[in-house]
Amino acid sequence: MIVGGGIAGLTLAVKLASCRIRVLLVEKDGKSGLIFKSGLLQPKSLKILD
Ligand SMILES: Cc1cc2nc3c(=O)[nH]c(=O)nc-3n(C[C@H](O)[C@H](O)[C@H](O)COP(=O)(O)OP(=O)(O)OC[C@H]3O[C@@H](n4cnc5c(N)ncnc54)[C@H](O)[C@@H]3O)c2cc1C
Repeated sequence: MIVGGGIAGLTLAVKLASCRIRVLLVEKDGKSGLIFKSGLLQPKSLKILD
């Protein structure tokens, strides 16, 4: 079980699912937040995506 549907929880869920590991992700907020929190990618984030 993964608690939290932020970028960390969602990334882990996708990684585990791609390894055919069943995942249960729980998120306490029922709706998307109104605050935009991903305007830019930091160099470390880009390295992960590279
Ligand atoms: C205003 C703002 C602007 C930002 N801009 C950028 C940017 O431009 N670029 C960038 O790289 N980063 C940015 N950040 C930082 C980035 O948003 C965070 O680093 C990132 O969201 C952290 O991800 P996370 O998954 O660790 O946590 P979070 O995104 O906080 O996700 C945690 C999730 O867990 C859920 N949760 C918590 N407790 C429970 C519980 N008990 N049960 C179920 N669910 C639970 C929460 O509801 C939340 O959805 C910004 C942050 C803010 C506040």
